[in-house]
Amino acid sequence: MGKVTGFLEIDRRDRKYRPASDRIRNYKEFVIPLGREATRDQAARCMNCGIPYCHNGCPVNNQIPDWNDLVYNDKWQEALGNLHSTNNFPEFTGRVCPAPCEASCTLNLEDTPVTIKSIECAIVDKGWEEGWIVPEPAEVKTGKKIAIIGSGPAGLAAAQQLARVGHEVHVYERQGRAGGLLRYGIPDFKMEKSHVDRRVAQMEAEGVVFHYGVNVGVDIEPQELLAQYDAIGLTGGAEKPRDLPIEGRDLDGVQFAMDFLPQQNRRNGGEPDTTGNARPILAGGKHVVVIGGGDTGSDCIGTSVRQGALSVTQLEIMPQPPEKENKALTWPNWPLKLRTSSSHEEGAERDFAVGTVKFTGENGKVKTLHCTKVDASFKPIAGTEFQLKADLVLLAMGFVSPVHDGLLEKLGVKLDGRGNVEANMLAYKTSVEKVFAAGDMRRGQSLVVWAIREGRQMAHAIDKHLMGETILPR
Ligand SMILES: Cc1cc2nc3c(=O)[nH]c(=O)nc-3n(C[C@H](O)[C@H](O)[C@H](O)COP(=O)(O)OP(=O)(O)OC[C@H]3O[C@@H](n4cnc5c(N)ncnc54)[C@H](O)[C@@H]3O)c2cc1C
Ligand code: SF4
Repeated sequence: MGKVTGFLEIDRRDRKYRPASDRIRNYKEFVIPLGREATRDQAARCMNCGIPYCHNGCPVNNQIPDWNDLVYNDKWQEALGNLHSTNNFPEFTGRVCPAPCEASCTLNLEDTPVTIKSIECAIVDKGWEEGWIVPEPAEVKTGKKIAIIGSGPAGLAAAQQLARVGHEVHVYERQGRAGGLLRYGIPDFKMEKSHVDRRVAQMEAEGVVFHYGVNVGVDIEPQELLAQYDAIGLTGGAEKPRDLPIEGRDLDGVQFAMDFLPQQNRRNGGEPDTTGNARPILAGGKHVVVIGGGDTGSDCIGTSVRQGALSVTQLEIMPQPPEKENKALTWPNWPLKLRTSSSHEEGAERDFAVGTVKFTGENGKVKTLHCTKVDASFKPIAGTEFQLKADLVLLAMGFVSPVHDGLLEKLGVKLDGRGNVEANMLAYKTSVEKVFAAGDMRRGQSLVVWAIREGRQMAHAIDKHLMGETILPR
């Protein structure tokens, strides 16, 4: 283990942010790394518990105590090898994962969990700096061809795993660049896109071929791919947004978050918008209301603030959760509690238990959102009605399911009760022969770390299906 008495001697210390007044001037990442010595001290706090709950807390089952010990002993390259054995892209999770591992750390019983996510990020960032991360092309080719549809974290993880065991892997992506929501959803200030570009270059050197601007089911028939490939992996995400069908919904200025956020990411990346939705949606000089309290809502706040919004208000229909969880009831699970993101700190008003009644406007443009407070069953409470100025309303209420038109309908894969592609977490097999599914397309809207896990596990299942056995980990 790290240092036997480390957790007694060393206080928890985590990465800090650049001041909000500085960071809102641009879209760059603003987390300040801890530095080598401080990271080593933090790793020394790990108690190497007999039952390391963090293993199960982490969806990719990162072997956290092992790499904490290696960092404490200054064996960074070994730590990197260990980290990569369970996670293809620790620099993504080290930046955007909500770190359920830290919620399940034994030291979290005292509110001082090991700074696992920061240590993970430090290991992989050092790996890139030192040139330790290089392409790992397969020595022997299998002669099997696999198509992966969708280049989000699930598709990338699956493609990398499959290429490394010798398959010829082709990734089909509707957008102009790879990364899925890592590229077009998550803003640059949370994760700069050079991290994705670097991995794509590594994967290309490992033999993965990327086909951009190909919407499978529209530009190419899935049956054509079925004829060309030995297996197909569906990793197209859960892209159908939840709508708000109330009066005034069709007014100009009421927009889905995912019409707004990708535009800014494209601007930052110097990428032309070829989606046919090229009219700029901008928050500058506007009163912005964000409806929905999750990650997407937070990202709309940070982006609106950077664009120069006059005010940003975030509404959530759920009641305000407690500031602090009851550890005896929740640990080692992920607790429901009030979470304040870096974007909230940049200047948004938040209100909970709010229902939306209607939008009204002038000359076809939204001007006002009419709201009411709601009770525990989301019923309006009489006499609590209020109005908010709203020149731009961003709908960030989550995603219902994958898009069914095109790819899924044409393939005819069976859907589960929630409209996701049906496949279990052992075989990842859909109802159509040689078609597999993983990530948000299979499990519904989730997290980057779950997408990586499912991509890796689907790769294991595909390899076993094609070869009869596999050395890929699950
Ligand atoms: C705004 C926002 C912020 C988020 N922030 C976080 C966060 O901070 N931390 C976190 O862990 N998670 C976050 N998430 C969730 C996370 O991004 C997703 O769970 C994850 O990206 C899912 O990965 P995936 O590979 O399954 O799908 P996606 O990332 O959605 O990728 C799917 C890809 O498939 C492509 N595709 C779809 N259909 C086709 C087709 N027919 N042909 C070709 N290509 C196709 C799409 O263009 C897309 O590139 C966020 C989500 C959003 C929307
Ligand atoms: S991937 Fe997420 S849950 Fe796993 S160790 Fe990293 S931060 Fe923790």
